[in-house]
Amino acid sequence: MLKGKTALVTGSTSGIGLGIAKALAQQGASIVLNGFGDADKPRAEIESLGVKADYHGADMSKPSDIEDMMKFAAARFGRVDILVNNAGIQHVAKVEDFPVERWDAVIAINLTSAFHTTRLAVPAMREANWGRIVNIASAHGLVASAQKSAYVAAKHGIVGLTKAVALETATTGVTCNAICPGWVLTPLVQKQIDDRSAREGISAAQAQNDLLGEKQPSLQFTTVEQLGGLAVFLCSPAADQVRGVAWQVDGGWTAQ
Ligand code: NAD
Repeated sequence: MLKGKTALVTGSTSGIGLGIAKALAQQGASIVLNGFGDADKPRAEIESLGVKADYHGADMSKPSDIEDMMKFAAARFGRVDILVNNAGIQHVAKVEDFPVERWDAVIAINLTSAFHTTRLAVPAMREANWGRIVNIASAHGLVASAQKSAYVAAKHGIVGLTKAVALETATTGVTCNAICPGWVLTPLVQKQIDDRSAREGISAAQAQNDLLGEKQPSLQFTTVEQLGGLAVFLCSPAADQVRGVAWQVDGGWTAQ
């Protein structure tokens, strides 16, 4: 379905970004990977699906790196047809204790980077009269949790950005939507489980159960494959008129 299209997925060296990159590659899209850590393995995994893949190591907190990455993708593949804004970090602390530098980093990586990639990707999408922007928000884009002020602010912000861009592109073949996952067992969440287990002196299994029980009524993690499936749907013709949504995949978290 996506043969001939190029997808750039930020933060795709692990977790949700890699899962979505694989799902888009399975549909035939060429992939530009981004993120920290080992890029060779994810790149090989994508190439084994029979599509072209490349990697750019832009730090999403740096606008000049983002500009470089967008130029690189255009030079390598002609155009970014599908932009998945996924890179994200977390920091947990009370607002009065929140390190200013961590606030700035969460807002830069989880929100401002999506503004930069979007502003740089939209002109070519408009010219082609086709494009898909998929923003990975969170249940925290719709509701809050204590001690996550920067993350909740950034995720509410990206839901707002999604709606504004969807309206600006509404008469074109470019759509912009957000996906709002609940808990997904990735390195980002594993760290919160490990911290909780250490803080409360409980086993990792208990910390995991408590984490799910607190927020996610299904008591099951959302999987990266399920998120990949929704991203593929949002890239399909059936989703041509899906514009500006913030779609929960959260086991009922935000239905409460
Ligand atoms: P992860 O830690 O597994 O992956 C994060 C990715 O972002 C990695 O590839 C990492 O290298 C990259 N990254 C981090 N900082 C970066 C930077 N400055 N520049 C470039 N890349 C950077 O986390 P994940 O759980 O897969 O999270 C992906 C997205 O999904 C995030 O936006 C997160 O907020 C969101 N999300 C996650 C969950 C969850 O439960 N895991 C739930 C809702 C939303």
